[in-house]
Amino acid sequence: MEAIILLGAPGAGKGTVAELLKESTHYQHVSTGDMLRAAVKSGKPVGLEAKSYMEAGELVPDEVIMRIVKERLDEGADDDLYMFDGFPRTIEQASLLDLALRDTGGRLTHVFMLQVPRDELVSRLAGRRVCRNCGAVYHVKNIPPSTEGICDTCGGELYQRADDSEETVLNRLEVFKKQTESLIDYYQEKGLLVDIDAAKSKDQTEEDIRNVLASESGA
Ligand code: AMP
Repeated sequence: MEAIILLGAPGAGKGTVAELLKESTHYQHVSTGDMLRAAVKSGKPVGLEAKSYMEAGELVPDEVIMRIVKERLDEGADDDLYMFDGFPRTIEQASLLDLALRDTGGRLTHVFMLQVPRDELVSRLAGRRVCRNCGAVYHVKNIPPSTEGICDTCGGELYQRADDSEETVLNRLEVFKKQTESLIDYYQEKGLLVDIDAAKSKDQTEEDIRNVLASESGA
């Protein structure tokens, strides 16, 4: 199994770019945020454990996250390609991922750091709308749906995530700075970090990542 990581602050576009890469490559999109939201929606025990942390914009405990990630990886095959989005978020999660990959003979090939200026992050998060049904991501100005409030893909209702409210957004950016930013050094030291200018369009960002993957796999 081979894996890449999309690293970046909330609002950097990890989920949006991951959805594009899912179409253009063979990587499977593994978003711990999406998995947790699905667990909350369906009332699963792990959702109940995670809900209050998510609403406050705080990180869900590492032990809960590793449980859902391991379950997801156990479902896969040896030749699977994974693209992690929103995981890992702490050094502890990163070391546990290293161990899990070592145990299964898998390896991490790239960590893409999606760089976006802070003002742009805040405006992206404040304008973000998500489809309640299929999870597709829009933005009221940058990526508007053709009909306001309705998903282009499945006709589902678009809503604003509770944790995209202004107050929670500021806390999430703070949590990123305090708990996740140290992963940049962690992966830099391992020689895996690739900086990506993600203030550009989603298509350009996706193309930049795809070009790195293609050039380094010899394809
Ligand atoms: P996201 O959709 O990636 O922005 O995640 C939404 C929320 O889910 C975060 O603010 C956290 O509360 C929680 N979450 C998602 N992934 C993780 C993770 N790897 N570690 C801890 N908490 C997470």
